[in-house]
Amino acid sequence: IVLAKDVKKSFQHMGRTLDVLRGIDLSIEEGDMVGIVGQSGAGKSTLLHCIGTLDLVTAGSIVVAGEELTTMSNARLADLRNRTIGFVFQFHHLLPEFNALENVCMPGLIQGTSKNELNRRAEALLEEVGLKDRMNHRPGELSGGEQQRVALARALVLEPKLLLADEPSGNLDSRTSEQIHQLFFDINRKRNTTIIIVTHNAALANSMPRVVTLRDGRVESDERRETRSYRHAVDDVAERAGTGK
Ligand code: ATP
Ligand code: MG
Repeated sequence: IVLAKDVKKSFQHMGRTLDVLRGIDLSIEEGDMVGIVGQSGAGKSTLLHCIGTLDLVTAGSIVVAGEELTTMSNARLADLRNRTIGFVFQFHHLLPEFNALENVCMPGLIQGTSKNELNRRAEALLEEVGLKDRMNHRPGELSGGEQQRVALARALVLEPKLLLADEPSGNLDSRTSEQIHQLFFDINRKRNTTIIIVTHNAALANSMPRVVTLRDGRVESDERRETRSYRHAVDDVAERAGTGK
């Protein structure tokens, strides 16, 4: 569903050129669940933005859902984004004056999906993320973890094939993070949604079936592991730590 070939991205900054992505090759199949890790400044967010059509590459090519991004008009990019891609960021960007249900419906209202259909989907999604009894709360009346779950439900309302997340548990405590991580695994398993998560969270990275490490704008390693549930992976890590292996 994602095919990146020799992707380069440079920024012009104060008269200097910053080469941030220096030739990335990456192929991600439908239904994959991929973690992107690497030190701060390695280019993880930049790569995610380029895959998510939020930013353009400087050279190379990216195909998403069969469409070559580099030759598309802005209007067609926006259309592809709306039809195919969901986003979750570290800061949820929920609209403070709307309640959870309305926030989840928002992407669909902009797209012109029918109100009834949207409400039905939004209620089901909020129930799925465990917020059945918080639908009428505004973001300010929700905890950080709850807000992030609303953002996750919102990212799914247009039924994306590809879900992109940048530090989705970056400012949550470890227990709340685990709940969010579990939801990503559930979504991947139930819907076969392709998920790419940029993360510094070791527990999450260790549990992912595939982990791509970026270093200075290049792929340093691309490792696959036996696919397991998030719960199993976390237990395994705890067990290894416990037995000192
Ligand atoms: P972190 O783990 O800290 O989030 P990252 O791997 O996500 O790091 P990026 O956000 O992709 O890193 O940034 C990579 C480099 O590109 C950084 O050195 C950053 O300063 C630079 N950069 C990112 N966006 C821009 C921009 N719009 N203009 C200029 N430089 C930028
Ligand atoms: Mg980043």
